[in-house]
Amino acid sequence: MTKPTFLFTVDVEDWFQVENFKPWIAPDTWSERELRVEHNVHRLLDLLDEFPSTFFILGWVAEKLPHLIKEISERGHEVASHGFGHQLCHDIKPADLKQDLIHSKQLLEDITGSEVVGYRAPSFSINAQALEILEQCGYRYDSSYNSFEANPRYGHLDLSQYRRNSRGIQISESFHELPLSNFTLMSRTLPWSGGGYFRLFPYSLFRQGVRNILSKQGYYLFYLHPWEIDDGQPRVSEADRLSRFRHYCNLKTAYKKIQRMLRDHAHCQFTTCREFLKV
Ligand SMILES: [Zn+2]
Repeated sequence: MTKPTFLFTVDVEDWFQVENFKPWIAPDTWSERELRVEHNVHRLLDLLDEFPSTFFILGWVAEKLPHLIKEISERGHEVASHGFGHQLCHDIKPADLKQDLIHSKQLLEDITGSEVVGYRAPSFSINAQALEILEQCGYRYDSSYNSFEANPRYGHLDLSQYRRNSRGIQISESFHELPLSNFTLMSRTLPWSGGGYFRLFPYSLFRQGVRNILSKQGYYLFYLHPWEIDDGQPRVSEADRLSRFRHYCNLKTAYKKIQRMLRDHAHCQFTTCREFLKV
């Protein structure tokens, strides 16, 4: 019997780069903020040595910490792009998006010496035009489509015309979409791919949903950010209550939950998105 596949993915960015806090933290102040991403990525890397994963890395972080990106690659994980400046696909002009995609790909390739073929859009803000641009820029897959529609930041895509197979969705001969895993209950889509929802839901409930997805779909795609395991990060106290709740909910317990999840899914095949898609 073939093992179910677990695709563990990390969006590498720091606590001050999240969309949630954009109204209070301008990108031109990023350089003045306390950089905590390196320590948090190390903590994740120490958990993941036996579990090949995919790291979608923000170009801004790669420029500051090239040695960290090299280490991620040398420890057996896939290095992919999360864009350069964390601008949402629908917030920037197509020409600027193209520039961002080319620049971030080149930067990561120069650091690792390997080709970068995957992309995850900031806040899953993918759309049809961005997919086209990605392919033009030499990417071979996108992993940004999140079918949970209640979050207004997420992008919208109609993928119904494309062929869906056991490894995602074939957009063209040479380009795939690998959507985030969600859980469907009575024709409603529930967010089950990780991040804040993973921190919010009780672990045993989350695990049930993952089990359901694995048995139906044969694979499960999980994501999180390094700042989600960092309870010691500076607090953005001027942010509104909802934004603070979203960002700070259960930071203390997330690391232990991840340890548990890895242990409970050791029977799965862990692989990188690129290996999984064979691209
Ligand atoms: Zn992000």
